[in-house]
Formats: sequence, C-alpha cells, structure tokens
Amino acid sequence: EGKRWAGVPGPAAVQEKGAKDPARIRTRFPPEPNGYLHIGHAKSIIINFGLARDYGGLCHLRFDDTNPEKEDQEYVDTIQDSVKWLGFDWENKDKNYCNLYFASDYFEYMYEFAIALIKNGDAYIDQQSPEEMRQTRGTLTEPGIDSPWRNRPIEESLTLFQEMREGKHPNGSMALRAKINMQSPNINMRDPVIYRIRHASHHRTGDKWSIYPMYTYAHPIEDALEGITHSFCTLEFEDQRPFYDWLLAKLSELGLLRHPLPHQYEFSRLNIKHIVTSKRKLLQLVNEGFVNGWDDPRMPTIVGLRRRGYTPASLRLFVERLGVSKSDSHIDYSVLEQALRDDLDPIAPRAVAVLDPIKLVITNLPEDYEEACFAPINPHQPEAGRREFPLTRELWIERDDFREDPPKKYFRLFPGNTVRLKYAYVVRCTGFVKNEQGKVTEVHVEYIPDTKSGTPGSDSVKVKGNITWVSTKYAVPATVNLYDRLFTDPAPDSGDKNFLDYLNPNSLTQVQAWLEPGIDTTAGHQWQFERLGYFIADPDSTKEKPIINRSVTLRDSWV
Ligand code: ATP
Ligand code: MG
Ligand code: MG
Repeated sequence: EGKRWAGVPGPAAVQEKGAKDPARIRTRFPPEPNGYLHIGHAKSIIINFGLARDYGGLCHLRFDDTNPEKEDQEYVDTIQDSVKWLGFDWENKDKNYCNLYFASDYFEYMYEFAIALIKNGDAYIDQQSPEEMRQTRGTLTEPGIDSPWRNRPIEESLTLFQEMREGKHPNGSMALRAKINMQSPNINMRDPVIYRIRHASHHRTGDKWSIYPMYTYAHPIEDALEGITHSFCTLEFEDQRPFYDWLLAKLSELGLLRHPLPHQYEFSRLNIKHIVTSKRKLLQLVNEGFVNGWDDPRMPTIVGLRRRGYTPASLRLFVERLGVSKSDSHIDYSVLEQALRDDLDPIAPRAVAVLDPIKLVITNLPEDYEEACFAPINPHQPEAGRREFPLTRELWIERDDFREDPPKKYFRLFPGNTVRLKYAYVVRCTGFVKNEQGKVTEVHVEYIPDTKSGTPGSDSVKVKGNITWVSTKYAVPATVNLYDRLFTDPAPDSGDKNFLDYLNPNSLTQVQAWLEPGIDTTAGHQWQFERLGYFIADPDSTKEKPIINRSVTLRDSWV
C-alpha cells in the first residue's frame, strides 16, 4: 500500500515531476472496472502502453471508478491480470515507480475544484429534474434554454453543493452544472452536468460519498493530476474535447493546475465483424448462459481469447497491423486469425491429431509390427530437433481422407489409389469394410516397401496425397473443442437487431480425438496439429484427461 500511495500525486507533486522531465510522454489506460476487458480494450492498451514504451515515456493504469453502481473489485483484478498478460506493466521496482491509480483517490480534489468553479461563477446548482434538463438542452438544430437556476447566487450554490455532499438531498433532486453556453452549437458545451447525487456504495470509498463526478468532468482532472501528456480516447469523444479543454483552462486559470496541460487525441474504435464488444451484451451472454463464462473461448474478452489460444504477441501484431487512425471500420475476424497464425507458425511445435477417426489397417504388416517414424518439431527450426512416434499395423486416420467414390481431384485414399502416410510409407488402398448401416468402419491398405520417408528411393513411387495418422495402439485420447463464430451475422448488434437472434447454434462442437503419443497435454501447451490448425491445451486439461481447444484452422475458413 505504502508504495502505491507514494506515487499518487497531489497536484503539486505531479507538477514537480512534469517540470523535471517535461518532454517525456505520459499516457494512460483508463478502464472502468465494470466488466472484463475485450479485444477493443486490447487496442487501447497496446496503443497507450506501446506509445509510452516506444517514446521512452510512461503509461499509467488508471481505474476510472466514478460510477459506483456497476463497479467491483473482481473487475479491478481481472483488468490488472489482462494488462500484464498482454506484456505491459505500470510498475517498475528498479526505477521505483508504480503508476497504478484510481480516480476515486481524487474525489476530494474533484470536489474542491468544483467549489472553486462555483466561487468563480463557472458552475451552479440546478434544481430542474433530469427530465427537464434533457428537454431544455436543445437539439443539433435548436439551441438550449437557460435553466431558471442558472443565475442563482453563488452562496446558494455553495450551500446546496455542501448539502449534496452531506447526503441531505435525494437522487435526481439537483445537480451541479458547469456554466458555459446554452446556445453553443456543441451540445456538450450547454452547461453539462458535472456532479450528480448517487446514494450508492462505492467499491473503494464505501459510503463516504453521496455525490459522484460525471466522467466528462472527472477524466480531464485525472489526466491533469497525473501529468498525462497524451490522453487517447475513441472518436465518440471528439465532441467532448472542447469541454475537456474548457475545464482544464478554467482550473489552471484558478491556479489549481500547472502546465503543460494534457491534450486529448482521438482514434477510431476497433470493431470486428461477427462479434459484440459492448460490456452489457457480453454480461448478458454470460449471465444467461449462452457461453460458459467470461473466459469461454468464443468470447472476445481478453480472458476468452487467451483460453482460445491467442498469444499476447498475436494481439500486438494485430493491433500494429491495423494502426492508429481515425477511419471507422469493421475489421474481418480473419485479420485477427491471421495474426495468430503468423505468430504461431514459426514457434509452435507440430504434432499429429485425428479429429474424426476411422481405422486404417495395413494388411501386409504383422499384428505386432512397430517401426519408429520421425518428424520435425518445427520445420522452421531445424535445431529444435525431431519427434518420434511408432508406425503399427492399425492406425487412426481422418474419415475425410477416405472416399468410396472420390470426387474429381480427390487425391487421398480410395480403392486402388496410392498415398503417402506422412513420415512413413506409401500405401495402396485395397479395400474397406462397411457396417450394417452402410458406414465405412475400416480402410484396408498395403504398404509398399522401400518407400519410407527420408530413406533413399523413398520417392520412387509418386503420389499426390499425403495423409496424417496415429497408431491406434499408442494414440492419446482427448476431448477437442472446435469453435466456430459465435454470431452468424457480421453485425449482430447493428441497427435495431437483437444480437441474441443471431447466435450460432453450432459455435461449439466437441469431438473425441486421438493425439500423437508423447505430447504433453497439461494446460497451456500449444501446437500446430498438422493439416488441422493451431490448438491449445485448456486450463482444465491434464495428462490423464486432455482437453484441447482449437484456436484457429490453418486456412481462412471465413470466406
Ligand atoms: P464498452 O463500451 O465496451 O463498455 P468502454 O469504452 O465503456 O467500453 P472503458 O472501460 O471505459 O470501456 O474503456 C477503457 C478504454 O478502452 C477507453 O479509453 C476506451 O476508449 C477504450 N476502448 C474501449 N472499447 C474500445 C474499442 N472497441 N476500441 C478501441 N478502444 C476501446
Ligand atoms: Mg467507459
Ligand atoms: Mg461504454
């Protein structure tokens, strides 16, 4: 605790820091602790922390906890985890700083600053109802109408504001408004509310306060107190910038802030097709059981993406590829997936798995036959060495690698055709067995001697198909979760659509698969399963009970 608070600045403390090192860039990531972070927040984290890192500056993690009802310590904890997982830190023990802040630590300043504004004639207590305030705000084409309380004596406003703080007035009975200009073409400048009454318990300040600052008032003050130089936000806040500047100019005129003052910059929100990112909607998916929790691998939350197998580097790559711009766009989900493939391809170990197994019998091998086969751990890293697994008489192959009646250009197994069993021999299909329902249960082949991969003359028999397999005797059984898009519509919450109408009923398929013997299926291991995609062992996976999640297929399946 001691150390954290040592870093929390009063206005003077920050100014000293700023003065020593005025050129240094300082950014902040300011989440509200009212939900789990999602991929959009990842963009903001990577921009804010990434810029600070690239320019030798600092980035603050600041909880914007000015809205007591929906906030909770659970969210504070998960947000910290997610930022760290993405590869960033707000704390540096060697350099002795900890840039972790809570807006609620500034409530006293915000209150004092509000009193200064009232005394200076720049704010007043309005006793109109919230409904009346809305109605007199005007519209884009109509100017607003001055409140009857707008010119009340300063002393009256001071007394009422004090009483608001003391909890003497009910919610909604009055509010503190900045006194700017009800005729402004910018609606946000028409005397915005800066404090409202909320008889609510706050997750950190408890019942100390019955008034809470509005986000638009609190945020510029937080930035200024912390000496932030670049305050990045999404484009919706562009129209708030005049108020941001107005407020900071006023407070510095009053001698409450010193220069340089922070500046707000806007960038476009990240929108991705086929997902929703609104916290309210994500909460609904969790609470109503459409997914298995915040970290369900189908969720666009950072914890969900992580469980799905997304790496911090893949998310940083994704955000870097998009760049920072002001153009609002809806990104294809496949761009995110490609970033993961590009990150994993050079580093992920390879393994073989069979997801939809059918038995293959090599009829010209003896029952107890065993021969070691070798494959690279990762073809991009010869130095990583090779893995070994046995060839036996009976194997599992993918059901789709055999056709009784092959379509045109089908080069895998069908009666009479030859294919290579990858890392082993060329085999010729000699027949198959069907059960009473007409389903193929076994495929029969004969291997062709002297064709083993990696031996001289192995390519004496030319084949066009190369199929993966595992020995039925040694394969490891596993539950594999195959994920598809959570929503069938590219913009499930646009217009007046109800996003729940577009849930994909097949977004999760569980299969019983067979894995290459010897692979470590404890939580967190990741592989490329050859020909199938990238996979990760789920946090619940163990050696005894492997549970594997497919992160992404090898090729784009979204087209
Ligand atoms: P939501 O609308 O999903 O509830 P929010 O913007 O209210 O999100 P905050 O916790 O206030 O959530 O966001 C913290 C920071 O993350 C803000 O600076 C915000 O601009 C940024 N952010 C949130 N969503 C996105 C997004 N989709 N793209 C880029 N930045 C985002
Ligand atoms: Mg917000
Ligand atoms: Mg929001």
